Amino acid sequence: MLSLPKHKHDFLCKKKEMRIHYFSLNHSKTRYIQIYSENCIACWECVKICPQKVIGKVDILFHKHKHAHIDTSKECIGCFKCVKVCKNNAIKPIKN
Ligand code: SF4
Ligand code: SF4
Repeated sequence: MLSLPKHKHDFLCKKKEMRIHYFSLNHSKTRYIQIYSENCIACWECVKICPQKVIGKVDILFHKHKHAHIDTSKECIGCFKCVKVCKNNAIKPIKN
């Protein structure tokens, strides 16, 4: 069941941390980190550890590849906890 959208560009689904986004927006990076979804094994450790709730799940029924993605890039503070916790090298720091 859908509830009211929390952000302009998304809709909250039954699972609080899962959102459906417009595909035109870039959900792979923030100012500090980039997610390489092809390396992601959907363990959700980065989702759990992010203090800012920046990272969400693409966990849609019949979606061919579940993976982490960026929900709220502006909230990222560059703490790199997600980079350290990812054992699959799917999140890397962006070098500015
Ligand atoms: S910790 Fe890495 S492998 Fe696990 S969900 Fe996050 S990006 Fe994917
Ligand atoms: S760098 Fe820190 S705030 Fe930004 S997504 Fe990773 S864990 Fe979250």
